[in-house]
Amino acid sequence: MEPYLYLAGLKRLSGEVNGDETIHLGIRPYGFHAGNAVALLIYPYLLCKFVQDRGIKPTFRFIVSLNDYEQDCLDGPDIIRYPFNIYPLNSSLKHTPDERGCCNSVVEHWQPIIENCLRVLRKYYSRTEIIFVKNSELRNDVSFMDMLIHTIKFPKEQGDIMRKYSGKEVLEKPMQFAGVVCPKCKKTHGKTHILKSGDIMWKCQMCLTSFCGSYGQFDYWWHHKAMLCARLKIFNIDITISGADHYSEGDFLIRKDFLNLFCPEQKIPKMLFSPLVLAPDGRKMSKSRNNIAFADIKRLLFIIENCEGESIQLDNDVLILGINEKDYSCNL
Ligand SMILES: [Zn+2]
Ligand SMILES: [Zn+2]
Repeated sequence: MEPYLYLAGLKRLSGEVNGDETIHLGIRPYGFHAGNAVALLIYPYLLCKFVQDRGIKPTFRFIVSLNDYEQDCLDGPDIIRYPFNIYPLNSSLKHTPDERGCCNSVVEHWQPIIENCLRVLRKYYSRTEIIFVKNSELRNDVSFMDMLIHTIKFPKEQGDIMRKYSGKEVLEKPMQFAGVVCPKCKKTHGKTHILKSGDIMWKCQMCLTSFCGSYGQFDYWWHHKAMLCARLKIFNIDITISGADHYSEGDFLIRKDFLNLFCPEQKIPKMLFSPLVLAPDGRKMSKSRNNIAFADIKRLLFIIENCEGESIQLDNDVLILGINEKDYSCNL
């Protein structure tokens, strides 16, 4: 199976689907910039539109992962040169304080904003379904647990696969793709050991406490690539939609090998990749402090509907600057 790349891939996929597939989308619940809007709203919208053009009413089920188990910020020896020798700067997003100060965490702050933006899709395609799932809500699912524990025990297997397909250098150390969040100080710096009994031993480098307990007594952080496999299995995903940065990191091949490692019986999803969205300064879109740029969704839709390439650099007139995120809406 080939990847479905950008506009041509979107059109090819639209011609092949039944219209009732289960589709996975994912976002770090920490902002909603123009790049997020393309992968999470505009590509799903266009998929529905092109399917409807075939005379089929789309009834897709969209599973939207709110990745609260991902790292707050990446830290490591050199996150550009060794993008897989990384770990959280402080903790998972779930345990990252809200910078605005109005909620318990960044996730609680951004979740309603993201959900409001994406629900717009159902105004146009009312028979589609959108299900929002935080990673932390899947913690006690058996396959999630098995794959998470496997990730903690055998990071080298995953490091070798990433080295093989990403074209990036991967160091032997530090190599860790998941771990415990300290029950006391909520930081992730420390040692996670899985004992023979299956219990977990945690030694915190920050507050210096040790805990031993069962899997369910701890909270975790987890790198998104392996964590995706758990979600593919739990929701029996037919199609994934992700940004071009995933494609350039080798995810099309990495996901296949990861699935083979964790659950070879699970079907490999069709993978659609949306173009990379660059800010007017030529850099990749991302949320940075004091620079929250939202997109004018109607203008962005027009641009993306006509963008054949693998990346698009936006002009300033597509961006809305200085808006309070709670006042942002996504009418197409
Ligand atoms: Zn808040
Ligand atoms: Zn601690």
